[in-house]
Amino acid sequence: MSPAPAALIAVALLVAGCTTDGPGGTPAPSPTEPAPSASVTAPTPPSPAPQPLAGRVVVLDPGHQLGNGRFPAEVDRLVDAGGFDKACNTTGTSTDDGYPEATFTWQVAVEVRRRLRALGARVVMTRDDNSASEWGPCIDERGRIGNPGEPGPTADVRISLHADGNRSSTAHGFHVIRPGERSGWTDDVVAPSERLALALRDALVRAGFAPSTYLGEDGIDVRTDLGTLNHSDVPVVMAELGNMRDAGDAAVMESDAGRRRYARAVVTAVRTFLGA
Ligand SMILES: [Zn+2]
Repeated sequence: MSPAPAALIAVALLVAGCTTDGPGGTPAPSPTEPAPSASVTAPTPPSPAPQPLAGRVVVLDPGHQLGNGRFPAEVDRLVDAGGFDKACNTTGTSTDDGYPEATFTWQVAVEVRRRLRALGARVVMTRDDNSASEWGPCIDERGRIGNPGEPGPTADVRISLHADGNRSSTAHGFHVIRPGERSGWTDDVVAPSERLALALRDALVRAGFAPSTYLGEDGIDVRTDLGTLNHSDVPVVMAELGNMRDAGDAAVMESDAGRRRYARAVVTAVRTFLGA
């Protein structure tokens, strides 16, 4: 038998998943098959899925909690929202037929998490479930999770997911809220959060969602009264993904396809913002 061509040995090693530079490597086996003719292409080993977000940490904050309405004392108690007091949380809104905001934000967040993980990101949620027998966490905690110095990994970006509940018959569409200047609180994140807000606005528009007809400007609002934004020491936005009291927005939010479209836009925005 003639000696195996070097290229064939290399292919055999790749297929076997071996490395050539480690100690104790298996010697290259002699091929028992006839050498392939020039017209046959050597099999390519399957390439791993690309992981453009490997090493990145994303905090997802699905707004509210399904059981908030059952714990008024806990949910109404005041917390520091950034140098002033505000209620720990609220029940959130719902569509006219009763689909709760807490469930919508949870379902979108779970889909965003699935997609981000597939791209290699580490995802931290501010709540573990969507339970009618649970409440919270409060807005300040939602804004601190993932900050430098807090327990757990430090986030590269924080996205808080909400939906609005405006009863005006002409109010529909999304708006992205970014933190405004609040001395000693948001100075460190205002500029990158503006970039994040623009990335999310653009991704939502490209995904076919219309900017709000009733709040903000071109789909972006700026606020200094939101505890979750004020407490964040990493780039942060809060997305009001639509108006649950508008029949058109509600139909999209209540559909799997609509929620997947929201999730894809959020993931696109994260990738754009992180340059990945
Ligand atoms: Zn909300």
